[in-house]
Amino acid sequence: MDCPFCNINSEKTHILKNGNYVRVIFSNPRLMPGHFLVVPKRHVEKISDLNEKEQQELFKMVIEFQEKILSKISSGCDIRINYRPFQKQDGLKVNHLHIHLHPRELFDELYEKCQIFEKDVFNDLPPEELDKMLKIFSDD
Ligand SMILES: [Zn+2]
Repeated sequence: MDCPFCNINSEKTHILKNGNYVRVIFSNPRLMPGHFLVVPKRHVEKISDLNEKEQQELFKMVIEFQEKILSKISSGCDIRINYRPFQKQDGLKVNHLHIHLHPRELFDELYEKCQIFEKDVFNDLPPEELDKMLKIFSDD
């Protein structure tokens, strides 16, 4: 299997911390300095594929490194997981589950070049949509 997170290329991928089930690596390529990835050692594609021990260590590692980022790099930090089976794996997209940690500041490059445009995508929640979603997602 051609997975860069299962077969780590030590010239491209630098490991920051190794746990029992999870490791923290530098994203390469990265969006900004301090862009880290928390990656389970086992190849899974969705967060629901993790077992209990992996979930616990993953969440612990995400919290630990968010706190490190906030104390050493930036005043804000986004945590992001993408699940996009519709998108083929390439140099920027890896199927192996990983959690992004993005150090953030007001009007940083990511905001100025990308997220400033998200403003136009936000809309008020229409009542019909709320009803529909409540029917789909309520437990009984
Ligand atoms: Zn993998």
